[in-house]
Amino acid sequence: MQAHDGMYIDGEWRRAAGQGRIEVVNPADERPIGSVPAGNAEDVDTAVRAARAAFRGWAETPPAERAARIGALTARLGARREEIARTVTAELGAPLTFSGKVHTGMPTSVAASYARLLETYEFTEKVGNSVVHHEPVGVVGAITPWNYPLHQIVAKVVPALAAGCTVVLKPAEDTPLVAQLFAEAVHEVGFPAGVFNLVTGLGPVAGQALAEHEGVDLVSFTGSTAVGKLIAAAAARSVKRVALELGGKSANVILPDADLGRAVNVGIANVMANSGQTCSAWTRMLVDADRYEEAVELARAAAAKYVPGDPAHPDTRLGPLVSAGQRERVRGYIAGGVAQGARLVAGGPEAPEGRERGYFVRPTVFADVTPQMTIAQEEIFGPVVSIMRYENEEHALEIANGTVYGLAGAVWSQDEAAAVAFARRMETGQVDINGGRFNPLAPFGGYKQSGVGRELGSHGLAEFLQTKSLQF
Ligand code: NAD
Repeated sequence: MQAHDGMYIDGEWRRAAGQGRIEVVNPADERPIGSVPAGNAEDVDTAVRAARAAFRGWAETPPAERAARIGALTARLGARREEIARTVTAELGAPLTFSGKVHTGMPTSVAASYARLLETYEFTEKVGNSVVHHEPVGVVGAITPWNYPLHQIVAKVVPALAAGCTVVLKPAEDTPLVAQLFAEAVHEVGFPAGVFNLVTGLGPVAGQALAEHEGVDLVSFTGSTAVGKLIAAAAARSVKRVALELGGKSANVILPDADLGRAVNVGIANVMANSGQTCSAWTRMLVDADRYEEAVELARAAAAKYVPGDPAHPDTRLGPLVSAGQRERVRGYIAGGVAQGARLVAGGPEAPEGRERGYFVRPTVFADVTPQMTIAQEEIFGPVVSIMRYENEEHALEIANGTVYGLAGAVWSQDEAAAVAFARRMETGQVDINGGRFNPLAPFGGYKQSGVGRELGSHGLAEFLQTKSLQF
């Protein structure tokens, strides 16, 4: 893979002040595929200064012009879609078909949505004798994870640019190559120098320097809840705004009258996608006692269709995990589930047959999981589903709401009104009713420890605005 030697700062690729390199590895075969510079606090400072210098000019650029640039960026991402998909497959290990449809298609449509939104978005409103102006927050520090590497970049950077903010991006160390492709696309479109800047580097070094920097007005972070807490604390010291998209342990609630086959099959597919490395994955499947064993059998059969394989092959549905560390973490959770007494229905902690090389994990289904077990409470971030039994709807609600997280969820019932009533009582930011489609315009974000703030659509744009009221 072609990797830039430098950082994209102030409109050009520059040599990094940080001396180290970050090696990027293909998780399917453990071979190095490139390396990027490990930026340090000095690199972050240079990038923040460039973003600050560019801010006033970009903030004063008319929204229609900002929209035109974002439209052109969308077109560049579209034109380079095959390269983007191949890059995501190489550095993340996602199956190529999924990389094309989801890892490339979704961010491209999100970027397009902001070009459209800017055509009609009202940046001023009248409130009594006041005119309220919605102004850009300033310099945004964006820190992103590896699991949907381009989507998470686009979901922060594009609305920030649409709002008139300037950005310094610190992408995840496991997937920096697609971030470099994004920076190339920004450059090709000709955004003014300093409006977008990329600093690759390690979280505790470059990420922390960005979260702490006095010149950053808002930090938008997606990643683990543990790091989110550190970021919020660092940001508090200089009274920055924070937006946090954190972990999840979402419940797939199958009510007694639901179409069980569909609910279980869609539920398993939801978890196996991206090898379970999806923050909103429905990793807890809740089934009533009467149909519990039937659901377990359906889940076993559904999981068997996910055979770990080479992600570059067009027929592969389940690739490896991103890194050796993640693989060990997930296998540890699977072993822990067995040790705590859950019934292993499919999969297990051993390497899948014939896949000893690469960071592969067996698609795993547990039954008889009780709410106290670790696998019912903690985010595993792998292809692992916990099937839990409930006695009645109140009990199902208690289980569904019984974790520190609240990011997503699902409810299934033949009676849509009953499903909606249940969903309204769930402490979570998104609920799909009977398999409702992902909507790139709907606000996405967490209740409880799943985060602060919302991404996507007009709510995602509003994150990067602050108000000024003029009285007449
Ligand atoms: P992570 O928290 O380790 O890393 C995320 C980013 O933060 C990376 O860029 C990393 O370099 C940086 N970072 C790490 N330590 C830092 C520090 N001390 N200061 C500043 N930055 C630091 O998470 P991960 O392992 O990359 O991703 C997996 C986790 O992310 C999962 O828990 C998952 O649920 C969560 N996630 C949430 C969402 C969401 O939208 N809610 C989306 C994707 C991932």
